[in-house]
Amino acid sequence: MNFISNRLKRLNQDVFSELESIKDEKLQKGVDIIDFGMGDPDMPPPQYVIEELCRTAKDPLNHRYPRTRGLSEFREEASRFYKKRFNVDLDPETEILPLIGAKEGLAHICTALVDVGDIVLVPDPCYPFYFAVTLLSDGEIYRMPLLEENGFVPDLSSIDEEVAKKARLMFLNYPNNPTAGTVEKAFFEDVVKFAKKYNIAVCHECIYADICFDDYEAPSFLQIQGAKDIGVEYYSLSKTYNMAGWRIGFAAGNRKIIWRLKTVKLNIDSGIFQPIQYAGISALRNDMPAIKETYQKRRDILVDGLNKMGWKVAKPKATFYVWARIPDRYCDKDFPKVLLQKLDIIVAPGIGFGEYGKDYARFSLTLKEDRIKEAIRRLEKFLIYY
Ligand SMILES: *Cc1c(COP(=O)(O)O)cnc(C)c1O
Repeated sequence: MNFISNRLKRLNQDVFSELESIKDEKLQKGVDIIDFGMGDPDMPPPQYVIEELCRTAKDPLNHRYPRTRGLSEFREEASRFYKKRFNVDLDPETEILPLIGAKEGLAHICTALVDVGDIVLVPDPCYPFYFAVTLLSDGEIYRMPLLEENGFVPDLSSIDEEVAKKARLMFLNYPNNPTAGTVEKAFFEDVVKFAKKYNIAVCHECIYADICFDDYEAPSFLQIQGAKDIGVEYYSLSKTYNMAGWRIGFAAGNRKIIWRLKTVKLNIDSGIFQPIQYAGISALRNDMPAIKETYQKRRDILVDGLNKMGWKVAKPKATFYVWARIPDRYCDKDFPKVLLQKLDIIVAPGIGFGEYGKDYARFSLTLKEDRIKEAIRRLEKFLIYY
């Protein structure tokens, strides 16, 4: 067997794997690595969520196949959540679909909406799976640059008319991973107008809307009039509720897109283990765990520490990422690799999120304060060499 699908061949963008192998080698030698790499929450979910999983796992009915469209109780709770949280009305029957994490919804929306050669508008830099899922469904990527001088928001007016006409789908995600960029409702209003004009579906991921700092409050895309006519929004329990390993989230919005997503899912997976849905209900029903203060303190330690060394990093208003432009003095080096080799610190190389990320590194704040302080100490020593 020596063949591989062209589809898979097109992926071929494994920026993170070299760092991974250096990391594995170091870990085997017992090196103390400080890992800012993955956006993987380090705090636990609320105890009652875990208890609800255990309780419902004992019910034999829950060991049978779940429905693809999920428990009606979960959809109803998700609908109540959106009403309470964003004042958005959603019909639990037709406008909500549970997902095995937002990532699953990303994979399937292309299957549902994109044909060979169709254009998908992808922010660059972005959550790298936007590129991957587009390529896996034989779509064509059109990059919308997220530039620091534009606040990491795409300039819709710069998109070529011919491209816009051929585009089927636009991915967006605010508060943004990896740039931590944020938007106000006015931007989403422009998106709705643009998408309606060119008949483009919008997939907005609302993953970090509940990790905001200072006075910032993130809007939901679905709060915009007309958004439901053209788009869906994915909400995930992974980040806000520290449930990344549980694999649960949901899609909300346009009923035709929801229906198409459900049809794809029906033919690929068999839904979410019901006890996880029951645990998800208890998460959505109750207060969110108090994670904001923790991330905010970590943010301040890291950003203040970097800026003291001459970096120029703004404090992000949301997400648990710090998107830092790499200082010029390091710029001819492969900075993330040198950092790991010399200081045993892992950051995510900006290029891993797209061409326009190449001068940046992403620090994830999913590690304890003392580890962040230790990283700053190591970086201060490193300064002596450059
Ligand atoms: C973390 C993250 C995801 C993954 O969400 P899951 O619900 O865990 O699949 C998707 N999109 C973005 C932008 C993320 O940052």
